[in-house]
Amino acid sequence: MIKHFEETLYNNYAQRFSVDEIYYENKTEHQHLIIFHNAKFGRVMVLDGIIQTTERDEFIYHEMLCHVPIFAHGAVERVLIVGGGDGGMLREVLRHSGVKKVTMVEIDETVIEISKKYLPNHAQGAFDDPRFQRVISDGATFVRETDEKFDVVITDSTDPIGPGESLFSHDYYEDCKNCLTKNGILVTQNGVAFFQAEEAKKTADLFRQLFKDWHFYSAAVPTYVGGIMVFGWGTDNPQLRKIPLETLEMRYHKSRITTQYYNPSIHKAAFALPQSVLENIGKTDTTHERAN
Ligand code: SAM
Repeated sequence: MIKHFEETLYNNYAQRFSVDEIYYENKTEHQHLIIFHNAKFGRVMVLDGIIQTTERDEFIYHEMLCHVPIFAHGAVERVLIVGGGDGGMLREVLRHSGVKKVTMVEIDETVIEISKKYLPNHAQGAFDDPRFQRVISDGATFVRETDEKFDVVITDSTDPIGPGESLFSHDYYEDCKNCLTKNGILVTQNGVAFFQAEEAKKTADLFRQLFKDWHFYSAAVPTYVGGIMVFGWGTDNPQLRKIPLETLEMRYHKSRITTQYYNPSIHKAAFALPQSVLENIGKTDTTHERAN
């Protein structure tokens, strides 16, 4: 008999997966972790009943949260990933040859160890790269206490329920800002715009207080069900959101990085948001927002 996994993210709506095989299921120190196989999505990771990542569509999320800030910045050497225990974000960041050091702060060591074993296609060996530094800690504590500066900070977190909650607070965003170099960029995962509008609204209200330039950009990831998801963007350099397409194309081709979702045109287009999303984040007057 086929078993099924039904996501418990929403009370009155759910996506359901058939489960061919369960590779791992256990309560870690912080979360309930499952890794199973589904015929359509390959290996799937679940934390506390919520789909985190699947082999089939992880590239969309990881490429967009990594390459958009790194290509926009143009000279990234030091990156901080907060969360990201599956290793997919680390893999993408390390593909940039200019990156000298990546610090990944993950609260749950078991997620890293189990991902190495059962989701090896995510990290593809990235955990062995000498540029990688692993820190096991709450990301909010790390950014509060570190003296290090980063060109890009990526929040690759769970939703703001459980351990991920601290990564959506004013203090966390302010501490991230204080960790950024002069042209540094903070990017954050902010959930699905249609179903989790409150997440983006809350982040927008906090980014407004903290950054000279802030916005959101989007991508549709099939297993983050419900339409486009949005990523937060905060920096004190407004030019970084307006980098011309030709410059992005030059950087992209020079990098020799091959992608499955990201390309410079997608990069530019991703910052165009539906009117309802602009309304939600309090940015319906977009005349001053138009990129070139
Ligand atoms: N791509 C996924 C998504 O959009 O939901 C997120 C993937 S990744 C598995 C999220 C990671 O964030 C988890 O491994 C979790 O342990 C970690 N995490 C949650 N709260 C954290 C915190 N406060 N500090 C550091 N890592 C945290």
